[in-house]
Amino acid sequence: MRNLAVNGERLWASLMELAQIGATPKGGVCRLAGTDLDADARRLFIRWCEEAGCTVTIDGVGNIFARRAGRDPTLPPIVTGSHLDTQPTGGKFDGAYGVMAGLEVVRTLNDLGYETEAPIEIVAWTNEEGSRFSPAMVGSGAFAGVFTVEDALATRDNNAPELTLGGELQRIGFAGPAPVGDHPVAAYFEAHIEQGPILEAAGLPIGVVTGAQGQRWYEITVTGQEAHAGPTPMPRRRDALVGAARMIDAVNRIGHGHAPYACATVGSVQVSPNSRNTIPGRVFFTVDFRHPEDRVLTAMDQELRAACDAAAATQSLEVEVREFWYFPPTPFDAALVGAVREAAAAQALAHQDIISGAGHDAVYMARVAPTAMIFVPCVGGISHNEIEDAKPEDLTAGCTVLLNAILESADGSR
Ligand SMILES: [Zn+2]
Repeated sequence: MRNLAVNGERLWASLMELAQIGATPKGGVCRLAGTDLDADARRLFIRWCEEAGCTVTIDGVGNIFARRAGRDPTLPPIVTGSHLDTQPTGGKFDGAYGVMAGLEVVRTLNDLGYETEAPIEIVAWTNEEGSRFSPAMVGSGAFAGVFTVEDALATRDNNAPELTLGGELQRIGFAGPAPVGDHPVAAYFEAHIEQGPILEAAGLPIGVVTGAQGQRWYEITVTGQEAHAGPTPMPRRRDALVGAARMIDAVNRIGHGHAPYACATVGSVQVSPNSRNTIPGRVFFTVDFRHPEDRVLTAMDQELRAACDAAAATQSLEVEVREFWYFPPTPFDAALVGAVREAAAAQALAHQDIISGAGHDAVYMARVAPTAMIFVPCVGGISHNEIEDAKPEDLTAGCTVLLNAILESADGSR
C-alpha cells in the first residue's frame, strides 16, 4: 500500500468556491438539478478538470465524465465522484465533496507526476437529490440501467410539471452526445459525508462503508366505523385511530427489537374524518423499514403483519397492509471495501465499518461495477440542511483514503 497525501487546503478552497454557486444567506447552498446554477457549477467543474489535463465527455442524461489517461488506454477506468446538485436548503458538502475529492485525487497525481496503469475518471452524476425532479439518483440510475433514458429525461419538475429534466438539460446545454451507460467501469469509489451521527460520536475520521441498507415501504389502511363521540359507549367502538396507534407503537418496537441497525418509521398519518367529536372510521399511515440484511427485513415484515392483525382484532377493525416499495440491501464489493480499509490503516487513520442509511449514486453503481464508499463525519450528523458542516481535516483524511484506495485499483493489484 502506498502512502501518498493530498493537498487538503486546495480541496477545501475548491469546495468553498463551488459553494458560492447557489449560496444561501444562512450559509447553505440551493443548487437544484437542471437550473442555471447547476449549469454554472458544472461549467466550473469542467474548467477545473480541463485545467488538470482531463478529457471531458457528457452523456445523454447530463452525467459528466472527466478522464485522466492511464498508461494502458485499453483498460476500463477507475471512476470516482458524486453529484453537484443540492436540496433546496442543502449544504456545501453533500455530493460536492465526492466530486471535489475526485478532482483533488487527479490534481495530486498531476503534482506527483504519477501515471496510473488504468485511466481515472471523475464523474458528476445528474439529479442525485430528486428534489426538483423525482425520483432521486436518476443520472446514475440511467447509467446503471435502472431507468430507461427516455423515462429519466421525461421526469417532471415537481412544481412546474410542464418542465422535464430532458428539456432543462437541453436548455442549460448539458444534454450530451455520449451514450448513457455504454461505458465499462473497473471500479467505482464515492467519498461522501456520513449525513448521520455515528462517526462523530465515535470520534473517527473515516467510515469504511460496507454496503447500503435495504428498504421496505408500506401503506397501511385501518378501517373501523365512524360514530358519534358522545352516545357511543366505549365497548361498542371500532376506533380506527386507536388500532392504528397500537400498530404505530408496534412499528417502533420492531425497530428497537432489531438494534442496532434496524430503522422503523411512521412519517405520515391521515385520520378520517379528522373531526374532534367523531370516532375515526379510517386511518391511513406509512411505514419505512430499513436494515442492511434481507433476512432481518423479512422478519420485520412478518412482525409488522402479525402486529397489525393483532391490533385490528382487538377492535374488530379491518387492516390492509400494502407493500409500496422494496429496495434490496446492497453489499459493496469486498475487495474494494478492503482497499478502503487498508488505505485508512496505512495512513494510521482511525476508522470503523459503517452501513449507509441513505441512498447514494454508489448504490446504483454497485449493480454494474465493483463499488465502495468512504464516509467522513459531518458536524452534529446534520445534512440536507443549510448548517451542514464538516471539518477540513476529516475531508482531507477521506480524500487521502480515496487516493490510496484508487491507486490500489488503478495499478492492477486488485
Ligand atoms: Zn449526496
